[in-house]
Amino acid sequence: MSDSAVSTSRALFERASVVTPGGVNSPVRAFNAVGGTPRFIRSAQGAWLTDADGHDYVDLICSWGPMLLGHAHPEVTAAVQAAVGRGTSYGTPTEPEVLLAEEIVGRTPVEQVRFVSSGTEATMSAIRLARGFTGRDVVVKFAGCYHGHVDSLLASAGSGLATFAVPGTPGVPASSTALTLVLPYNDRAAVEQVFAEHGDRIACLITEAAAGNMGVVPPDPGFNGFLAETCRTHGALFVTDEVMTGFRASSRGYWGIDGAQEGWVPDLMTFGKVMGGGFPAAAFGGRAEVMGHLSPQGPVYQAGTLSGNPIATTAGLTTLRLATDEVYDHIGGVAETLKTAAAEALTRAGVPHVVQSAGTMFSVFFTDPAHGPVRNFEDASRTDSTAYAAYFHAMLDAGVYLPPSAYEAWFVSAAHDDRAVQTVLDALPAASQAAAAA
Ligand code: PMP
Repeated sequence: MSDSAVSTSRALFERASVVTPGGVNSPVRAFNAVGGTPRFIRSAQGAWLTDADGHDYVDLICSWGPMLLGHAHPEVTAAVQAAVGRGTSYGTPTEPEVLLAEEIVGRTPVEQVRFVSSGTEATMSAIRLARGFTGRDVVVKFAGCYHGHVDSLLASAGSGLATFAVPGTPGVPASSTALTLVLPYNDRAAVEQVFAEHGDRIACLITEAAAGNMGVVPPDPGFNGFLAETCRTHGALFVTDEVMTGFRASSRGYWGIDGAQEGWVPDLMTFGKVMGGGFPAAAFGGRAEVMGHLSPQGPVYQAGTLSGNPIATTAGLTTLRLATDEVYDHIGGVAETLKTAAAEALTRAGVPHVVQSAGTMFSVFFTDPAHGPVRNFEDASRTDSTAYAAYFHAMLDAGVYLPPSAYEAWFVSAAHDDRAVQTVLDALPAASQAAAAA
């Protein structure tokens, strides 16, 4: 798209860059990885985004997961408008919090939840609780799993498997990651080794229920169950982060297609995105015995001025109540259609690629299938970012908004109808050619 076609976005981006670092309030919204001007979105309806210059795009980001029903769903909008009319925050307990907590407890194995305002807060609080509950300090995580910008989790692997991590960004003191062990994803031997060496110091192991932040990398069959069992054996808590997958990969999250079938239960879980219906709401939950250690019932401190905010919990509750089996069937069907068509178009254009999914989430890796499936961060890092950038821009020019990074899941919604799907299908051949030429 020519510069003049996006002149309003461009002008806004220039002004934003003066008053905001990089012009955006969360790094992945910038187009740093793909080049060009980030589109400033003016409005959204159903499966479509409209930018400040009036261009429409089929939305394959869905606010990075939350918009399960599509944008401006009439019933969610009505519920939110009614809630706003009753006041926006009281700093007291409210009924919608109880109803949303009951809805989450009904769909997942957690017995109790505590609401917070972001996924970052959820994982940060879950780790504090795990440490407080076990009286231990060490946390194990996997490379390529993102759990928000929690200091101790913004960690890169140390020089050997069982060595403690180093900060993944300036601003995180070495002391904050000195109790974090970072392991390769899907690597049972690495897990066994660190538990053999440090088992009695490990408070918890945290993992994305299915990795979605290095592209979609599902756990190998039985891997999460193995993690649950290893944690149990060593008296550590098993924390599954379902901020992205919760109420998205299936109605019961990724656990619904994994632990629920295999018969294991995490000690703690984290949720966000879909459960907030597009508002800032997240949660962590688990066994009542563990959750009971939280203040005011127990000694582990945790709090939030806007936690369980009535507008956010109303939006989340309305969204979850509307998220029926038919919704998940529809989303699963759209995901299947899109990933099959994307793979076919790339094959026809001769672009090496691997498509992977976890429930209704999927992503397209621009990597050579000769290396086999993408099973961990090292595999994901083989992505051809140049080819992806060309593909991304060709799709954008054809009216399809993909994530502006090759390492992200593609999200669809209940509002992705035939017209939206057809727009994507029509865009794929030329975009695949563009990737081939890059
Ligand atoms: N955990 C996972 C698995 C996530 O995908 C994210 C956000 N993408 C977070 C935690 C952090 O959530 P938030 O951005 O709301 O802080």
